[in-house]
Amino acid sequence: MHITMLGTGSAFAKRYNNNNALIEANGYRLLVDCGITLPKALHDFGMDFPQLNAVLISHIHGDHVGGLEELAFQMMFKHQRKPVLYIADVLVEPLWEHTLRGGLTQGDLNSITDFFEVQPLQVGKSYILANGLTVELIQTKHIEGKASFSFLFNGTFFYSADMRFDGQLLQELVERGVETIYHDCQLEPPGVVHACLDELLTLPAEVQEKTWLMHYGDAMEQYADKTGRMRFVKQHTVYDV
Ligand SMILES: [Zn+2]
Ligand SMILES: [Zn+2]
Repeated sequence: MHITMLGTGSAFAKRYNNNNALIEANGYRLLVDCGITLPKALHDFGMDFPQLNAVLISHIHGDHVGGLEELAFQMMFKHQRKPVLYIADVLVEPLWEHTLRGGLTQGDLNSITDFFEVQPLQVGKSYILANGLTVELIQTKHIEGKASFSFLFNGTFFYSADMRFDGQLLQELVERGVETIYHDCQLEPPGVVHACLDELLTLPAEVQEKTWLMHYGDAMEQYADKTGRMRFVKQHTVYDV
């Protein structure tokens, strides 16, 4: 399985697109989060919406769901089909009621299932998305009072999306067999709603060696030699995981 970040930026970054990823396994293409910058980022990458098999959503913030309206409308008007949407079951209603309803509703088309083929996911269950690609949702802490999820792909690749620092979880994941961790990283402390670099630097060396940093601010290059054994994921580079 390969992963390419279509963006590696924090919510406020301008040099990097929103932190959204393209995962490919045996010809199947999964978009992980669909932020405000995603439609243009995907176009700049030389791809179009119909080439995606599904989109998987981690939580309801603009840099992760802000591109879903265009995805739905393009697929409806240009391609006459609904995109497959994988999302935690508890987020289906909030995504529609709090984010998408205002823009998408028209006439009798007034529910999320009118625009997406919704596949609700439950925490802790492993789902086969395609040959060679499974996903399990892990609920992690990001914003007080809002559900947010990280992903475990194929039992070996942990993708934090957005979460506060949880060193114990990362240690447990490595003990469970996780080989690669992609973690959001706020460069300057305090972390507040994201893990910050200073917190991630407290991880044991064997966890740091498996950890790649994403969702970073525009000053990333100034931190190139300040990340311990962790490395920055580069936008548009293809990695095997
Ligand atoms: Zn974010
Ligand atoms: Zn967020």
